[in-house]
Amino acid sequence: KPVVAIVGRPNVGKSTIFNRIVGERVSIVEDVPGITRDRIYSLGEWLTHDFNIIDTGGIDIGDEPFLEQIRQQAEIAIDEADVIVFLTNGREGVTAADEEVAKILYKSKKPVVLAVNKIDNLEMRDQIYDFYALGFGDPFPISGSHGLGLGDLLDQVAKSFPQYNEQDYDEEVIKFSLIGRPNVGKSSLVNTLLGEDRVIVSEIEGTTRDAIDSPYTYNGKEYVIIDTAGMRKKGKVYESTEKYSVLRALRAIERSDVVLVLLNAEEGIREQDKKIAGYAHEAGRGVIIVVNKWDAIEKDEKTMKEFEENIRAHFLFLDYAPIVYLSAKTKKRVHSLLPIIDRVSEAHALRVQTNVLNEVIMDAVAMNPTPTHNGTRLKIYYTTQVAVKPPTFVVFVNDPELMHFSYERFLENRIRDAFEFEGTPIRIFGRQRK
Ligand code: GDP
Repeated sequence: KPVVAIVGRPNVGKSTIFNRIVGERVSIVEDVPGITRDRIYSLGEWLTHDFNIIDTGGIDIGDEPFLEQIRQQAEIAIDEADVIVFLTNGREGVTAADEEVAKILYKSKKPVVLAVNKIDNLEMRDQIYDFYALGFGDPFPISGSHGLGLGDLLDQVAKSFPQYNEQDYDEEVIKFSLIGRPNVGKSSLVNTLLGEDRVIVSEIEGTTRDAIDSPYTYNGKEYVIIDTAGMRKKGKVYESTEKYSVLRALRAIERSDVVLVLLNAEEGIREQDKKIAGYAHEAGRGVIIVVNKWDAIEKDEKTMKEFEENIRAHFLFLDYAPIVYLSAKTKKRVHSLLPIIDRVSEAHALRVQTNVLNEVIMDAVAMNPTPTHNGTRLKIYYTTQVAVKPPTFVVFVNDPELMHFSYERFLENRIRDAFEFEGTPIRIFGRQRK
């Protein structure tokens, strides 16, 4: 999906516009333990277009001076977005801060749509002419508080969306990405995997924005490491801000089959790690937990077990994910990673036989009777796998309401016992069959 960012100095109404565009969708929160949803990256919709929208104003830059904050937010937008909405305030006219933002946006090659906010009625439309001076063509008058002009603005935004060609890799190419907090060792591990910095076979301009993917071949199999561009262009101040690394992770997750969630053995598990891992789970990608910097800690025979218990306790929703302990620096056990990536990507795309699946479910029901509610017992008629990536099952029942979460979980575990679904989330839905 294309990414839209709203940029502008404080108080021009960025959040109001963001909320207007995102509408009700923000409040749809999936009930996954350990996950709190951030509002910086949300789904927007306009006519037939789906897009992601970032509220860069929601990224906390810290105690930097005012102009520095605006500058960094604009740079994040330039880094991340396909189209930038440059928001100004029609009641205050063009200010010095607007000109600062404009200067930064000139340098970007991204399309910019200029919007003049707070034009609440027709009489105020004359205010927009000053804004031609910013040099971004026709300014679009809008009113965030009254919801006016947004349609025309979004039409213009949609016209600027790049043409996507998502199917740029063959089906059998395994796409994976590395996500994690800053300094967990993502870049180091990518370099180790690619055989030191410069052995990269070729760099292909990603179809989405300026993501640079690293395709490579190992043992006759083809892989692509997604979105390593951001890792190589390191050193920006805002890299270390939490929400920015979440944003980065989301972009990489979206294009991957398998996601490696990196943890730092030296630092243990942080809240932010859970958040980032939660997105991979929610997105339905294959997940491998990688504990990096294993060389840097003191170990005895119990250390690995203790780490595992700790990880399992903190990442309850990722109980299916294999854990790998390695060192990007000494390369220890890095070679074990690719076979695991292979396995997880196979599991992620696995389609099971319907008759075998139904035997498994019937055995499960025989072992652990279905729940009842108000005297009615759940009846399972038939189960079918409707999708892969991730494997998704529909269970036809008498009444989906009776399909309690814990029973769904039980069925999931039986399915996992019967088939090789290591490393992939599984989705199960109850549907009514009359
Ligand atoms: P990124 O921000 O996640 O991309 O992390 P980097 O790859 O830049 O690594 C951050 C720091 O950790 C660098 O100083 C690396 O040299 C160091 N580092 C990365 N992997 C390892 C490792 O396996 N062991 C040790 N001891 N240090 C590592």
